[in-house]
Amino acid sequence: MQTDAGSVMIDREQIAQRIDALAGELRDVYGHGPDAKPITLIPVLTGAFMFTADLIRRLPGPLQVFPISISSYPGAATKARQARVREGLTDLPDDLSDRHVLVVDDILDTGQTLGLVHDLLSAKAPASLRICVLLRKDVPRVRDVEADFVAFDIPDEFVVGYGLDYDDYYRNLPEIIALPPGGAPA
Ligand code: 5GP
Ligand code: MG
Repeated sequence: MQTDAGSVMIDREQIAQRIDALAGELRDVYGHGPDAKPITLIPVLTGAFMFTADLIRRLPGPLQVFPISISSYPGAATKARQARVREGLTDLPDDLSDRHVLVVDDILDTGQTLGLVHDLLSAKAPASLRICVLLRKDVPRVRDVEADFVAFDIPDEFVVGYGLDYDDYYRNLPEIIALPPGGAPA
């Protein structure tokens, strides 16, 4: 069932090339070599795990990873619900005031998830707070939140693969796949 989930929207090579370029954009902002600013990178699990793994391998400067977990699509639902923190920010340092925080998420869709994350983190007054997403959907935002770094802009289709799930399946697919309307066969 996994392989015929839908049609390939972004293939492996496109993903790899774009992440190379994106890492260059990040190095331009945070610096590189001895003067690089240390990055406090906060992946939003679970969907961002593969993107994060590929991205941080291209960022050789000082960097710490503190994952958080947010839920907005319980089970197999594909309609946005209110985002909520599932495991909280317990592993995050209490004091972010001298830190350059980079949130990494899979998709900016309605903006509810990243709006919530942005609220939580900006309350801790980090030295800087930026958002990096693998995908940005062309839809109206419910929350006014901007991504500073975007790997791909995509149309309003439900996608799986490369860390993204439908009912927790398909995360292991190496491409980004658009599911047919109505969802995939179970
Ligand atoms: P938002 O809160 O911006 O509406 O939704 C963002 C979250 O919803 C993403 O982090 C992702 O977990 C989930 N999401 C939104 N669109 C899709 C999609 O097309 N496919 C999958 N698998 N998840 C999505
Ligand atoms: Mg998510």
